[in-house]
Amino acid sequence: MNIYPKLILDALEKVRYPGTGKNIVEMGMIEDDMRIEGNKVSFSIIFEKPNDPFMKSLVKAAEAAILTYAGENIDIKGNIITKAKQPPKPAPVNLLPGVKNIVAISSGKGGVGKSTVSANLAVALAKLGYKVGLLDADIFGPSIPKMFHAEEAKPYMEKVGERELIKPVEQYGVKILSIGFFINKKDALVWRGTMASNALKQLITDAHWGELDYFLLDLPPGTSDIHLTLVQTLAITGVVIVTTPQEVALADARKGISMFTGEKINVPVLGLVENMAWFTPSELPENKYYIFGKEGGRRLAEEMHTPLLGQIPIVQSICEGGDSGIPVALNDSITGEAFQFLATKFVEQVDFRNKNLSATHRVEVRR
Ligand code: ADP
Repeated sequence: MNIYPKLILDALEKVRYPGTGKNIVEMGMIEDDMRIEGNKVSFSIIFEKPNDPFMKSLVKAAEAAILTYAGENIDIKGNIITKAKQPPKPAPVNLLPGVKNIVAISSGKGGVGKSTVSANLAVALAKLGYKVGLLDADIFGPSIPKMFHAEEAKPYMEKVGERELIKPVEQYGVKILSIGFFINKKDALVWRGTMASNALKQLITDAHWGELDYFLLDLPPGTSDIHLTLVQTLAITGVVIVTTPQEVALADARKGISMFTGEKINVPVLGLVENMAWFTPSELPENKYYIFGKEGGRRLAEEMHTPLLGQIPIVQSICEGGDSGIPVALNDSITGEAFQFLATKFVEQVDFRNKNLSATHRVEVRR
């Protein structure tokens, strides 16, 4: 059986804290350190009091529930953590009340396919029936308009209540905005630092995004002030890191993960996408050639204890889809399916995160 976080959480939901009628998941007692490696699962239960009388029996009950629910052959380890509950953060001003999840898509290095993955993930989520927005925050090389066949689009303003807001361009069921809609290509390089951050903030808070299940931010590559500002001003659900299996890309992805999970930013990494995982020629669809090395993304995911959300092969149609503005995720080819699979895993991970977060950590904008 394939073990994944949601399955474990479902099992843990069967365990009630004696006398309360509530289960240990809804009581926020599951620490954010669950690890799944093959058939090895470890998790921790948080107890507020170091002398809680149910400590041992609850860990035992939780282990038993997982074995019953997810299979007998799991090597399981339940841990005990004692700590006081964090006081709730003051509620920030919520400027995007209709947006359920903001997820940043990031990469350590340029050219690894971050925008391709963002575009296709957005389209695949829309195909699954979700309401999706995509902000092209890659200020130095905005490529989303081209990938959506919308290079000539000119978003206009619309009146929403008392405010004049930018209306995102809608293509393939995805609402998109890009700095590329507002500037000439040759001017892109002068967008730096605060100016870029402010422009991006405006595209987020002064646009009519309406109701969204997923708002994806295609970040610039690397680690810059723009990342810091965006991630610190928006309460982000999590980050997805895109890498290729190549050593140099992995090293930069590792740096990116450390930046996001570091104390300064402290945003959960939802998972890793290994793009260009292998090359498959269209005339020999069964053949895989590991041009950039084999399974590098999977290894990094294991090393960083983060889920591998998907492996996308190098296929000519992905590149052509980007150039022609018709993302491959729109069709049901094998490549289209790879993105559909990614979208499903992505939804699962976001749900998993949300279940584990306090109600205050939601999509809100701090000023
Ligand atoms: P980034 O946003 O990381 O700079 P892009 O998404 O712009 O990278 O991709 C760089 C180039 O690689 C583009 O020409 C894109 O079409 C191509 N590309 C990305 N992923 C794949 C893939 N899996 N197969 C084939 N070509 C790809």
